[in-house]
Amino acid sequence: MGRAFVYVIVGGGVAAGYAALEFTRKGVSDGELCIISDEPVAPYERPALSKGFLLPEDPTRLPSFHTCVGANDEILTPKWYKEHGIELVLGTRVKSVDARRLTLVTSTGETITYNFLIIATGARALKLEEFGVEGSDAENVCYLRDLSDADRLATAIQSSSNGNAVVIGGGYIGMECAASLVINKINVTMVLAGAHCMARLFTPKIATFYEDYYMGKGVKFIKGTVLTSFEFDSDKKAWHSVSVNLKDGNQLPADLVVVGIGIRPNISLFEGQLIIEKGGIKVNSQMQSSESSVYAIGDVATFPVKLYGEMRRLEHVDFARKSARHAVSAIMEPEKTGEFDYLPCFYSRFFAFSWQFYGDHVGEVVHFGEYDEGKVFGAYWVKEGHLVGCFLEGGTKEQYETISKATQLKPAVTDMEELEREGLGFTQTV
Ligand code: FAD
Ligand code: NDP
Repeated sequence: MGRAFVYVIVGGGVAAGYAALEFTRKGVSDGELCIISDEPVAPYERPALSKGFLLPEDPTRLPSFHTCVGANDEILTPKWYKEHGIELVLGTRVKSVDARRLTLVTSTGETITYNFLIIATGARALKLEEFGVEGSDAENVCYLRDLSDADRLATAIQSSSNGNAVVIGGGYIGMECAASLVINKINVTMVLAGAHCMARLFTPKIATFYEDYYMGKGVKFIKGTVLTSFEFDSDKKAWHSVSVNLKDGNQLPADLVVVGIGIRPNISLFEGQLIIEKGGIKVNSQMQSSESSVYAIGDVATFPVKLYGEMRRLEHVDFARKSARHAVSAIMEPEKTGEFDYLPCFYSRFFAFSWQFYGDHVGEVVHFGEYDEGKVFGAYWVKEGHLVGCFLEGGTKEQYETISKATQLKPAVTDMEELEREGLGFTQTV
């Protein structure tokens, strides 16, 4: 025998935390909502793991970064869930789901039934083994997706002071972790498959600016090559006996290796049951999947981006938060909930830099501002005569709000040179 709930959320990450808060605001009753997570802790703001969590002095630790502090909202500690009559089932994996029969089975063997299911299972880090490289299980080879990874990385950082780290991948994890390693006085070499960092978003000019800064901090970049193998000591445990072998013939000594080579959404429970698109669970503008009682939010959802008339999957926290709120609203107040009209928003912080991006990074690009430390600078993307994307480094809260509003409106741009001259001022005139 098992339990029955009106609402069940599978997965206990960012999206689950924001959904829980929205459920309470919409008036969920005691005992109606259950969250099942294989992590041992209540939902937390995952972005902290590559930033405050890795600081050498006063690192951020739970409970200070439970959701929903990232949106300057309430902090949902385990006590909060109890007080709100929400069943938080932690350290428990959902092993199978029958989306038609509205039941699931957990790793403890319990069967749970529900009226509505919200899928918030997020994603897993891609492993080197998937590219034919063995060694991910070694003690000083670190990935970063959850709290246990972050604990492991923080321990490895402590044991590697003044040592050498190799960072594989020049995406978000690579850039943020490399900065954290430098702050911890570790010598860093970044190995990038492509020509520059953050290749999917940054233009060569933006990438060059940040790479130059990193190099000024002692970071070395090796580009256009990949890791082919490790050489460990016999028990794969010693901190000073790893070499990283690269395809271009380079061999790098490493006390610590951080791997950030992308993710895959956790959708296996639903394959064959729900429609999958672009690697995620296909949802409509209410975040509802191909089964009407099942919704998907966060990294795992492929949703219609109304602004661009296209289905997309996004791997960023702003989307996790907003899609969670929208799904709960669609479930609890369907008649009041319109179409999800989401403007993609990405951000990152490393060293003293902080940038935000809104919209779409397609079309022609113009850069503006003074590309220098401590300055405000950015870039616009213009497609078919309209502004579609904006990147801004070092902006104020008001400036970020302004570029976000302007990007959403897709204003006409008639003269690219004029746009470049106006710079940030352009969005203030929209
Ligand atoms: P997650 O937060 O990953 O939560 C999924 C949860 O489901 C996890 O707890 C997982 O253990 C659980 N789960 C999975 N399968 C099961 C199962 N079968 N049974 C039970 N539980 C299950 N984005 C930004 O925009 N800005 C940032 O600065 C930023 N920094 C980041 C830093 C790091 C280190 C990482 C890893 C990500 C960062 N992101 C950032 C991305 C952002 O954190 C994600 O987009 C966001 O967490 C997605 O939320 P989610 O709820 O969909 O997934
Ligand atoms: P990203 O997708 O950001 O970057 C992956 C990087 O790995 C890319 O530079 C990619 O190069 C490179 N790569 C891919 N395959 C290989 C390979 N076989 N060998 C070497 N390099 C390879 O993923 P991350 O792992 O950095 O981040 C994981 C997740 O965490 C993402 O969802 C990300 O959004 C999220 N995250 C977000 C943050 C933020 O928004 N600030 C911060 C930290 C994490 P190429 O681009 O050339 O394919």
